[in-house]
Amino acid sequence: MNGFTLVFLIFLLLTSAIQLWLAGRQRATVLRHRPQVPDDFRGKIELAVHQKAADYTAAKMRLEQIDLVIGALLVLAWTLAGGLDALSGLWTKGGWGEILTGSGIVISALFIMALLDTPMDLYRTFVVEARFGFNHTTLALYVSDALKQAVLFLIIGTPIIALLLWLVTHAGTWWWLYGWLAWTAFTLIMLWLYPTVIAPLFNRFIPLEDDALRKRIVGLLQRCGFSSDGIFVMDGSKRSQHGNAYFTGFGGSKRIVFFDTLLKSLRPDEIEAVLAHELGHFKHGHVRKRFILATLTSLAAFALLGILIDTPRFYSGLGVQHPSYATAMVLFLLVMPYFSALLKPITSYWMRKHEFEADDYAASQTDARNLIHALVVLYEENASSLTPDSLYSAFHDSHPPAPIRIAHLAAAHPAPSRT
Ligand SMILES: [Zn+2]
Repeated sequence: MNGFTLVFLIFLLLTSAIQLWLAGRQRATVLRHRPQVPDDFRGKIELAVHQKAADYTAAKMRLEQIDLVIGALLVLAWTLAGGLDALSGLWTKGGWGEILTGSGIVISALFIMALLDTPMDLYRTFVVEARFGFNHTTLALYVSDALKQAVLFLIIGTPIIALLLWLVTHAGTWWWLYGWLAWTAFTLIMLWLYPTVIAPLFNRFIPLEDDALRKRIVGLLQRCGFSSDGIFVMDGSKRSQHGNAYFTGFGGSKRIVFFDTLLKSLRPDEIEAVLAHELGHFKHGHVRKRFILATLTSLAAFALLGILIDTPRFYSGLGVQHPSYATAMVLFLLVMPYFSALLKPITSYWMRKHEFEADDYAASQTDARNLIHALVVLYEENASSLTPDSLYSAFHDSHPPAPIRIAHLAAAHPAPSRT
């Protein structure tokens, strides 16, 4: 046991304990408020809807707690119990070259991790989501999705993993900087390919047929200084009842995607308000800022990996007796989340600030009452709790809880008085 082991164990315990405690608080808080609809929503939301949200949130918190415990045990199995060392030993016996062996180690480790996650994911989809009426996925669809993802991962993931291993082997001291550049280029290509090449492998995208709604959206885009690069409806209902809408595309031209479930539940003026909120994220540069943050984070991660990869105690302290660049990469992926999780409250706070800004923008372009009503409908349809625990929310939530968000909108943009 060296210093690395000790620091790792402390963070593993600390991070898991904090998150278990927060999930427990969230569960207790929503169940405590279960008997009554909160005052601000009385008359707007039925008791049965409120109680469903409480039960759904409580069930999700149980799942989160189970996930945390299993995750911590698995990471111990991979590291200190020698799982990764054993896997890497199997590949090394093959006698292939360094890059091929290394790619084999990284890819097979990632596959095994995904496989080990599957039972919990099946339980989440077919038991918990199904119990609350959200799941529309069939087992056949689930299997076909998993197979497609595996093939895509092999096609797309193998070259970038092999390239990173080649760089660390041949590019010298600064390999991590080149590695980061390659990674950044890779993410940009993926962002560009995703809407037109990857997403259609999983869903059907049909141009929006509703002419009145289309005109409304184009009008909003023009008013806000954007142009449309296509407005599509996606068959999200094929997998889940949860609704959503998103934008893709670089620059001023936006491809807009609505889940069919969202179009069913919102009125046209509410859809417009939701889109105006999304446009607000672009107007305020949130999308660009988030991309820059992600890029800087990955730079820090590559720099850190660049140091650890040449530190023998990093391997021995984490249960790897036969160090290789590939095992360093896998160890890093396994262990880092237990350190970075403690920064989550900072990014969550930052994201919630963005949500308020985007809401303000939407209220300046459309009637705030439409967005408020849309939010009530969406929180209702997604069974989000109206009474979350404040600490859990501060730590995890990228979106402010419904009551706070609605109060903010109502205070900043009071409904015009009738005179
Ligand atoms: Zn938003």
